[in-house]
Amino acid sequence: MSEDTKRLLPTGICWCGCGKTVGLGSFFARGHDKTAEGAILAADYEGSVARMLDANGYGPTNSVTKAAVERGGWEYCPRDCGYAGTPASVRNHLKQHEK
Ligand SMILES: [Zn+2]
Ligand SMILES: [Zn+2]
Repeated sequence: MSEDTKRLLPTGICWCGCGKTVGLGSFFARGHDKTAEGAILAADYEGSVARMLDANGYGPTNSVTKAAVERGGWEYCPRDCGYAGTPASVRNHLKQHEK
């Protein structure tokens, strides 16, 4: 996340737009963050992740995973295979190298 990202606060109503009341401290009802993720893709990017990347300036020559590592807390696989993800998903991914 960039430093100029405005601070968002949960409002007690699910941010996917379903209108459900959610507990204080949550943006979404359970699983509705995934609904919202799919919905924004469908509504604004023709359902295409490639389009969303392009609209945000990312693509084959401007790596979104590199950006995630630089400022999103992601890590590269220490085996240099090119995989990147959250620390937990990299740990999980590393098991594949042990096979
Ligand atoms: Zn919802
Ligand atoms: Zn790897």
